[in-house]
Amino acid sequence: MSTHTYNVHGMHCASCAQIITRKIAALPHVRDASVNYGNEKARIDFDESMTGVDEFNEEIAKLGYALEDTSPRTQNTPESHHANTKEDTLVRLEGKTLFILPITLATFLLMLWEILARIVAPIPNLPIPMQWFNTITMILATIALFWVGRPYLEGVVRFARFRVANMDTLVGIGTLVAYTYSTLITLFPEIVSLLRIPAYTYFDVTIVVIGFITLGKYLEARSKKRTSEAVEKLLGLQAKSAHVLRDGNDVEIPIENVVPGDIVIIKPGAKIPVDGIVLEGISYVNESMITGEPIPAEKKSGDTVITGTMNTNGTFTFTATKVGSETMLAEIIRMVDNAQGSKAPIEALADKVSRVFVPAVLLFAVITLFAWLSIGTYYLGLTEAMALGILSFVSILVIACPCALGLATPTAIIVGVGKGAKNGILVKDAATLEHLHRVDTVIVDKTGTLTIGKPVVTDIESTIPETEFMSILSTLERASEHPIAHAIVTHATKKGIATKDLSNFELTQGRGIKGDVDKSTYIAGNVAFMEENGLTIRMDNIARYTQEGKTPVILAHDGKMIGFVMVADELKEGSARAVTDLQQMGIRVIMATGDDERTARFIANKAGITEVVAHVLPKDKLELITKLQDEGRIVAMAGDGVNDAPALAQANVGIAMGSGTDVAIESAGITLLHGDITKLVKAIRLAKITMRGIKQNLFWAFAYNIIGIPLAAGALYPLFGLLLNPVFAGLAMAFSSVSVVTNSLRIKTKQL
Ligand code: ADP
Ligand code: MG
Repeated sequence: MSTHTYNVHGMHCASCAQIITRKIAALPHVRDASVNYGNEKARIDFDESMTGVDEFNEEIAKLGYALEDTSPRTQNTPESHHANTKEDTLVRLEGKTLFILPITLATFLLMLWEILARIVAPIPNLPIPMQWFNTITMILATIALFWVGRPYLEGVVRFARFRVANMDTLVGIGTLVAYTYSTLITLFPEIVSLLRIPAYTYFDVTIVVIGFITLGKYLEARSKKRTSEAVEKLLGLQAKSAHVLRDGNDVEIPIENVVPGDIVIIKPGAKIPVDGIVLEGISYVNESMITGEPIPAEKKSGDTVITGTMNTNGTFTFTATKVGSETMLAEIIRMVDNAQGSKAPIEALADKVSRVFVPAVLLFAVITLFAWLSIGTYYLGLTEAMALGILSFVSILVIACPCALGLATPTAIIVGVGKGAKNGILVKDAATLEHLHRVDTVIVDKTGTLTIGKPVVTDIESTIPETEFMSILSTLERASEHPIAHAIVTHATKKGIATKDLSNFELTQGRGIKGDVDKSTYIAGNVAFMEENGLTIRMDNIARYTQEGKTPVILAHDGKMIGFVMVADELKEGSARAVTDLQQMGIRVIMATGDDERTARFIANKAGITEVVAHVLPKDKLELITKLQDEGRIVAMAGDGVNDAPALAQANVGIAMGSGTDVAIESAGITLLHGDITKLVKAIRLAKITMRGIKQNLFWAFAYNIIGIPLAAGALYPLFGLLLNPVFAGLAMAFSSVSVVTNSLRIKTKQL
């Protein structure tokens, strides 16, 4: 089983997405299918050896849909192709809208006039003979229905042939009934006198309903395009070519030809074309497009550079490490794309409702028509009841379109995820965003999360010569990835201390390391690690340092301590502020660290955190989270994503601090690029804003239908003589979709 993503063509509404989902999920060898109307993508989980996109297309082609393979997403070709076909659809829709809109408005005004003339005495009747009006509107209605309204008619045909109904079907049946009825009585006036039915025609209704709905569709498509701008902007960051050294010459080559190991030359103002590590030269690079950090970052030998970021005015060379689909930018795009296409749990309700909605509404419209014809005829006579019944029938079908409902969640998610990406907050999926907005407890790791994560060696005490001591220790630490290890190795390298041979290296997470240096076994790590290995450590000397927030690394051999180094890491600039912000949001902040209790307290105090859990191993962090969850708390865990992986997975929301190019994007629900917890505050705000948007959208989408359908059925008629004219139903329907998408777009402008 494997999961593939496809672009979907031919969808006009949210119920299309559901039809495709249902059809494909029912095919053999398909485990799961999910189609998103918001970004027009399908994600299908299936057995590749048994079935494929051709089989899927065969199934849905007759319904007028098509899937397009996007799998080799290395460069931006498939995406821009999809963008092109979307663009074509938009242009066609625009043409139709520009044509029908003036006609619609004119007809609408004439209808208003006629209605007012009937109610308000001083207003004269229409200055055109009714006969003319009927002929003109009949011609225009024919164009409106068969050209502009073609997708709706196709919906009717689809319904007749394949028994699948979507909102197009509703609009199609409504307008077709109005049109056919009107045509019949215009062409064969004898029917009217024969059946004693009213001589009203509904050509104007047909024109105006199709006009307004087409306008709504057009505005919706235009705004929907804007909701997914984020990915297009990210794709636009990719450079087209790169200057690399080949045979000692500076040559410009297309980006596809750059391979890992190439030396890339960056001139002032140039874009970084691939990921890499700076070789020579110093400059400042603007990384705001990726990390959201406004201040350019200093880049010197050994620093990482990220694809898509912009050099300021220095010159440097770097070694390419990741190219093509491997770069961080490609990974970010993939992640944003996936997240935008994922479904939030809150959407399940809307999905369920709209699934039963269309058939239910069809049935209800028919029942209403019969009710008018029977009960209505009893009170009003056939002529009046028939006229009102047809109006009701059309209005119900038109106003009941669950289009706004289908747009409510996906558009808000697309905008929210995109806004996150712009701020260096990468969201894995919609569910994460939904969980994040309810988080009430945040557990933060110390190193790299609250602190800068680049500790430096501050003190060394040893019983053997310092050079020998550091040589042994750095030999051991060279094998470790821990920031503390980096500090020690860097210190030794700067002092020009040589390393020795290492064998039998062993790492104990959250404790320390063990290995043979020059055939003797050494251990290095924290106090707990020493005690586990049978040493008793006299604390007084060490406590002197830990009280100042320094972390001890002890080196021992043969059951005896040889000496220790102290490393210190500084609090990040925004940490204290972020902790206060979180606490003000009513969130409980707990610091959990594998470090020494005293060291931890010192740092926690500085950051304003009162709850500290020290000496924890990765599995203890996990247990801490489970315990809090059992107490009913919703926990977010922020860690550096390496040894915290189990805890990140257990937390309701795992938040990884990504720095440099090697972000563990997949492991966490949220990745904060160049992360500190100020970004965590922003991420939570983003989640709250997005979820609020979704709830507003859902409320309005439901409200339109709940209020609109009974009005259209004539619920108010017996009391007030009020019946919703299909024209206003069309207007309301168009307005509801447009207002939902506009509300989602508002998320863009909110301050994080
Ligand atoms: P944190 O929770 O602060 O990220 P870790 O779980 O990564 O801490 O590590 C906890 C402690 O284990 C460190 O503070 C350090 O004392 C010790 N430790 C871990 N790795 C090493 C190492 N490579 N060398 C020495 N000490 C280590
Ligand atoms: Mg850590």
